[in-house]
Order: sequence, then C-alpha cells, then structure tokens
Amino acid sequence: MDRRTFLRNSALGAAAVAFAPFGLNGQVRKAMKPGKLNLSFVPHELQLRHAFNLAKSSRRVTPDVLVRIELDGITGYGEASMPPYLGESEKSVCNFLSQLDLEQFKDPFQIAEIHRYMDTVATGNHAAKCAVDIALHDLVGKIMGQPWYKIWGLNADDAPCTSFTIGIDTPDTVRQKVEEASPYKVLKVKMGLNRDKETVELIRKMTDVPICADVNQGWTKREKALEMCHWLAERNCLFVEQPFDKDDVENTAWLRERSPLPIIADEAVHGVDDVRRMADIYDGINIKLMKCGGMHEAHQMAIVAKALGLKVMLGCMTETSCGVTAAAQLAPMADWADLDGNLLITNDPFDGVKIVEGKVTLPSDRPGIGVVEI
Ligand code: MG
Repeated sequence: MDRRTFLRNSALGAAAVAFAPFGLNGQVRKAMKPGKLNLSFVPHELQLRHAFNLAKSSRRVTPDVLVRIELDGITGYGEASMPPYLGESEKSVCNFLSQLDLEQFKDPFQIAEIHRYMDTVATGNHAAKCAVDIALHDLVGKIMGQPWYKIWGLNADDAPCTSFTIGIDTPDTVRQKVEEASPYKVLKVKMGLNRDKETVELIRKMTDVPICADVNQGWTKREKALEMCHWLAERNCLFVEQPFDKDDVENTAWLRERSPLPIIADEAVHGVDDVRRMADIYDGINIKLMKCGGMHEAHQMAIVAKALGLKVMLGCMTETSCGVTAAAQLAPMADWADLDGNLLITNDPFDGVKIVEGKVTLPSDRPGIGVVEI
C-alpha cells in the first residue's frame, strides 16, 4: 500500500471508530483541531479472570485509562494500567492527562521533547506518561506506515516464548490454571508465601515445562532464599525474580553471588538510571512500560542492559492488548517475555499481539504498535 492510500484508509478508519466501544461513549467529544495533537482519554476498569494473588496483595480488578492522540484523521492508541503497588490511580492519571497541552506540539515525532515537557508538568506519573508515549508511538508508526519493531531494526522472528502466570492460589485453582496454560512453553510461578514448594511440586506433577519464580519481594531470610534457589534449580527453573524487598541491596547481592539461578530485578528497576545502578546487584532486569513511562524509555533500558551484559526480560501489568502489543514490539530484544497481561482480563477492547505455540507473535502487517479496536 502506498503512503497516500494508507493515509486515506487511516483517516477512514479513524472516522469509523470515533464512537467505537471505548470511544468516549457518553462523553462530550471535543472538536478535532487540524494540524494539532488532539488528546482524549477515558477510564476503563479491567476485569480479571481470576483473583490476582501476590505475596503482598490480592485483587479482582485493575484501574486503567485508555488514551487517544489524533492528528489529522490518524489515531494513536495508548493505555495507563495502575496496579496498586505503583501508587497511581484512575484519578491521578486523569488529573495528569487533563493538565497536558499537547496542542502546542505539531510534530508527533518529537517524542523525547514531549517527554521532557511532561516531566515539567509533574514528576512521577509513569503510567500516565506511558499512555501518552504509547499513543505517540502508535501515531508515528502509522504515519510512517511501519510497525515499531521494524523502525527499531528488529526481526520479529527473534521474539521469545512468553510465560503464563500462575498466581498464589489454592491447589484446585493452581491445577486449573496449569491446565489453561497448556499452550505455553514457560510458566511463571508467583511465590513468597509458605506454600511455594507445595505449588511447584503440584505443577511438576502436571508438566515439565520450565518455570520462572517471581517472588515479588516476598522473601526475607537469605539462607532460606538460597536453599529455595538450589531447590528450584533442580526443578527446571530459569531464574528468580525480585526475591527481596526492592531496597534490600545487601541480601540481594549476597544471594546473587551464591545462587545457581540468575536473579532478576523487577520492582527494584524502573528506568534507565536504575539499570546502571543495579547492574552489579542483579543478573537481569524486567522492563515494563507502565513502570518506566513507555516505549521510548523501555527501548533505551534494553540497549543499556545489553551493553552492561544484563539479561532482558519484558513484562507487563494486567493490561489490554494495547499496552501488551506496544511492549511486544520490543520482544525481539528480550531473553524472556512475560506478556500475558491481556490474557488475564475479560474486557479487552483491542486486538493485537498473539501467542502462537507459546511464542510472542506480532501482527506484522499493522503499523504503529499493531492494534485495532474490536
Ligand atoms: Mg515481577
């Protein structure tokens, strides 16, 4: 398709979805200003398939805000997902977005400059900034007529398999989730409570696929943690994620020196500065768009991590296919992927990345982040 045809189709597409499922139903839609970046947003609470139990919390919904940035008939989609532990809420995200004046920017390609502007509006607010960042990337990719993995010079075939998450749960629910996860080649097991060994043994009776252990800061005793790392290594575990509190550098460094398994940072690493800071304490990092503020920072984190010899894992929150597909554009740079957030919800308004025989599979012919509204 030539660029002119693409732009005409995009304009038609944008007109067709003006009042589509998440299309600001019931809200007064501002008149679009030609030649300007028009930002709009709407809350969209995510309904979880199963209660999501972690070492330190449990929930059935995740607050979420969907974003659009429109420029001359082309629409970029973005999303902010706010798991409670990151400290943002629907209210804080909407409040931040309502303060933005993106109309001052005529060129959506100035993503770094728009990030600098957002940082002057308020510090933090990473999920809110991420929503704008994803929508800008989607818009820019659509203008260029290319998906982001191509713009970044990556090969979609290099994307790894994704893990499927088994939360902390009763034996019956764990069994049911392992059955649901049968198409996946890797399982991610949430740990940090007393039932860890029981859960892994239950899984091992059902399948021998590799597992990864995500402790979500749930361990406190270094000797017990080391014993668990050896025990897990004998049960085909790939790595241990965030064993101790994010600020517990001493125990983490001690464990890393002795552990037979790589130790991966999640809660301890948000942006590129943390990657440098934590490079001597962890073996790898878990990059998530909602933590770091979007695709721009995530791409830099992956480059810096690789330059420092760290493993790269690509994760997500419970998100719609919008956020997960945006993250998946980076998947060819990842050693491991944990991109199942869209599979954990029942009200996904987008179609995007697919998991084919366990592998992260991008919609290769779609420009931008690669999603369409359904
Ligand atoms: Mg984690």
